[in-house]
Amino acid sequence: MQFIWRAAICLMVFTVCVQAAELKTKNVILITLDGLRWQEVFTGAEEQLLNKANGGVRDTNGVRATYWRDTPEARREALMPFLWSVVAKQGQLLGNTNKGSAVRVTNGMNFSYPGYNELLCGFPDRRINSNAKRPNPNVTMLEWFNGKPDFKGKVVMFGCWDVFPYIINVERSGLPVYADQESFRKLPPSSHNQLLGDLANDSVAVFKGVLPDSFVYHAAVEHLRTQKPRLMYVSFGDTDDWAHEGRYDSVLESARLADGMIRRLWETVQSLPEYKDQTTFIITADHGRGAGPSDWKNHGAATIGADHIWIGALGPDTAALGERTNLSNFGQNQIAATVAALLGLDYCAEVPQAGKPLQELIKLSGK
Ligand SMILES: [Zn+2]
Repeated sequence: MQFIWRAAICLMVFTVCVQAAELKTKNVILITLDGLRWQEVFTGAEEQLLNKANGGVRDTNGVRATYWRDTPEARREALMPFLWSVVAKQGQLLGNTNKGSAVRVTNGMNFSYPGYNELLCGFPDRRINSNAKRPNPNVTMLEWFNGKPDFKGKVVMFGCWDVFPYIINVERSGLPVYADQESFRKLPPSSHNQLLGDLANDSVAVFKGVLPDSFVYHAAVEHLRTQKPRLMYVSFGDTDDWAHEGRYDSVLESARLADGMIRRLWETVQSLPEYKDQTTFIITADHGRGAGPSDWKNHGAATIGADHIWIGALGPDTAALGERTNLSNFGQNQIAATVAALLGLDYCAEVPQAGKPLQELIKLSGK
């Protein structure tokens, strides 16, 4: 009996060591699409919202021609072709609640700051109960990575919302966070970034304090090419802004465009020797939204279903298992440790309150 236990322990230790030694991921790009529902990701455009009354749709025929198809599989591919033709073929997608694979927000609040805190720190915090611009008392994994010698100066964030400098606590962390008009003036100097800074300051977004996603993408991809970060967080927000405005047509357009930008980011990664075949993308959301003809616009503690999110993963250490079904529940609080595990670090050893890594997304090399 003792022998069997010893053998089992040896095997476990061996497995963990082999895994750590053989991972190919050297860089991670974490991408979020604010409040994009799992319903759109897994089933595409929703028919009852493709009209003026429920979805605020202006050109019903045009929107139907672009996004409506007879099956959920065809609809989701029409909406997010990169997600379904590349991530679902070469990587994995978790979160199809219809198929027994739920991913949940664990903070109970189901809105942005609590979600980004949970996502980036690995644990919920009841003190973070508003989107107010208050410096985060918690250390995000971005700050944690930047404290490691191998990652110092190689961590960066691009976003669309002027609360991110507080969520990532730039005062304390000192991290470069480019997420509002002011910070776009401070991008590394180049003619490209000069133009981007000018455009960001000369444009009107859906709400005050946000930037359109195109700015985020173009700043991020330029940074990737010229500065070579090892951990980059890219946060898109148009999907949430347009849902709050009640414009389902623009939500769909935002999701489709973000999918295309993620594709171009991936193609850029695969064209650069520092990144090719050694970079993992984790793609997810900060919260879900409600269901039905009106609640799709909303999210929060009182909105049923707004705790459901989804996760996509694509990279050399993620098995090509596609859309996962019949898995136990996963949590938003597991993403920080997953990113660390992909990069060979044990986040939970230093942050024990964080959720465990999603082992489903991390395979042994060669398998
Ligand atoms: Zn929102």
